[in-house]
Amino acid sequence: SQKVLLSVSNSSTHEDNQEGVERIINLDHGDPTMYESFWRQMGDKTTITILGWQSLSYFSDITNICWFLEPEFAKEVVRLHKVVGNAVTEGRHIVVGTGSSQLFLAALYALSPQDAIKPISVVSAAPYYSAYPLMTDYQKSGLYKWAGDTQSFHKDEPYIEIVTSPNNPDGYARYPVVNRSEGVLVHDLAYYWPQYTPISSPADHELMLFTVSKSTGHAGTRIGWALVKDKVVAKRMTKFIELNTIGVSKDSQLRAARVLKVVSDSCEIESSFEVGESFFNFSHRVMVERWKQLREAVQHSGMFSLPSFSHAFCTFSGQMSGLQPAFAWLKCEQGIEDCQSFLSRHKILTRAGKHFGFGSDYVRISMTDRDEIFKLFINRLKAIR
Ligand code: PMP
Repeated sequence: SQKVLLSVSNSSTHEDNQEGVERIINLDHGDPTMYESFWRQMGDKTTITILGWQSLSYFSDITNICWFLEPEFAKEVVRLHKVVGNAVTEGRHIVVGTGSSQLFLAALYALSPQDAIKPISVVSAAPYYSAYPLMTDYQKSGLYKWAGDTQSFHKDEPYIEIVTSPNNPDGYARYPVVNRSEGVLVHDLAYYWPQYTPISSPADHELMLFTVSKSTGHAGTRIGWALVKDKVVAKRMTKFIELNTIGVSKDSQLRAARVLKVVSDSCEIESSFEVGESFFNFSHRVMVERWKQLREAVQHSGMFSLPSFSHAFCTFSGQMSGLQPAFAWLKCEQGIEDCQSFLSRHKILTRAGKHFGFGSDYVRISMTDRDEIFKLFINRLKAIR
């Protein structure tokens, strides 16, 4: 059960308990707890105080299209993109959401023709993020409908294509696939941050989604943001959130603003920053080390394979850098057809390839759990032969 799995995650680092029973290692979800140790080191730098009389109003800035957007949060979003160089913010409207998940739905709502006689098709190239089909269809909307993998989309009609770059689950950079004039694009850039991928240039698309969940690891704060070129689309996304939740928690926005500020500060004044290491230095270093260990374990076992990535120049670090995705897209070799079942027999829980519109010989494994869990996983994987 979930309770058992949670207690496993919080348990000690010993591989086996006293009866010699292997622990369950749950790497199904992409819970970014690996960043916890950095934020512990930051101590009070990220503490904010909200007094009882503050944050009462629904409204944040009625002169803004997104009237529930906290100006402090907007300021730190713009600053962080400038510091990292991963997205153009000039001439963009910022729409804040309860996670980028809410903004994904807001984008579908905003981009769907409102007077169409049938729902617009929503597509993404497989393997695609497993939540897209579920989120698109769970309310059986009359506005939009999941139409699956871009490869099998041949209809000559309007569509929305989700471009996830770097991609969840496989980590590769992605570009639009369908490329027809009736299409509109949503760029989900949740992982376009230096710890996962070299930053090649500031992303400059019509509608881009970001989230603190994957950038700083504050998934529980539930804050995402959209950078939107078109004013009408930004207005419609705002309307969706107004109808859905009458805005987004101010407390969370203020907390997210402080977290983003500390990240930017850590990059800008790295040499004088007390801890001596910027957030992206820390997270990149940990991800590089984890991928090294994973590749060694996979080689040792001989039962699996992983995607291979080439190095590219990162404008943020000023160096050549590899890719260290937040997930490992692992393939079972040697004729094992159901990789998820195979690994679950070794008490490693993963997400099966079929959820991503792909084969069952693949699984997605989270690379962002706590150190002790990752260590258990590597040792367990090495022992599989
Ligand atoms: N997009 C992608 C590609 C993701 O992987 C995730 C989280 N797994 C999300 C969006 C949703 O993130 P949030 O926590 O901001 O809702």
